[in-house]
Amino acid sequence: MTTQTMTRPVNLILLGPPGAGKGTQARMLEDTFGLVQLSTGDLLRDAVAKGTAAGTAAKAVMEKGDLVSDEIVIAILSDRLDQPDVTKGTILDGFPRTEAQAAALDELLADRGQKIDAAISLDVDDEAMVARVSGRYTCSTCGEGYHDEFKQPATVGVCDKCQSNEFKRRADDNADTVRTRLSAYHAQTAPLISYYDNRGALSRVHAMGDIGDIAASLGAIVTEVTAA
Ligand code: AMP
Repeated sequence: MTTQTMTRPVNLILLGPPGAGKGTQARMLEDTFGLVQLSTGDLLRDAVAKGTAAGTAAKAVMEKGDLVSDEIVIAILSDRLDQPDVTKGTILDGFPRTEAQAAALDELLADRGQKIDAAISLDVDDEAMVARVSGRYTCSTCGEGYHDEFKQPATVGVCDKCQSNEFKRRADDNADTVRTRLSAYHAQTAPLISYYDNRGALSRVHAMGDIGDIAASLGAIVTEVTAA
């Protein structure tokens, strides 16, 4: 895929419930625009795997599907923003999830001479999300996403992208936890749609269709905000 060159750092937020396709679309935007995907879920899972103090505090909360404290998540994101690869710009996947996080994000970016260019809401049907999330798994080597029902590899047990035979499933991708995560999304994160709309920074994309069509819609938004 061709990478388009950005003339300045661009920071995008992908909003949407679990299963909306934030991770998949963020990875596609990384390839197309050379931006860096920042997933606080990935950063937290990494902290859990390494057994850091933040990971130990977050583990049980994540297993239930509740939100980890603002303090822990903001600290993890702040550290990540200090790494040199993010100077080109970022796609925030799963952050912010509360208004306190949104306010902290503005400050973290302002401290680095940057700002949010667009928040994009991936609009989906909740009921479909339970089935989507419950059957999903990823390649352990390259992170390519698959699904028991909707997207199996062309050869069973072999990743299409990197030919690895190792796959993994998230501990919180089960029907009960997904329902808790959906509730957390509606109670604490969905209000951010109005928050960014009021700032004139919101775009909405209908995200129930073809992955390539959704990527094209997102690409058009990124091209537009970059030109502004
Ligand atoms: P995700 O990979 O974005 O679905 O996140 C998985 C889990 O990590 C969530 O259900 C939360 O427990 C936790 N988490 C990820 N990002 C955040 C955040 N920004 N604020 C609070 N908790 C988060």
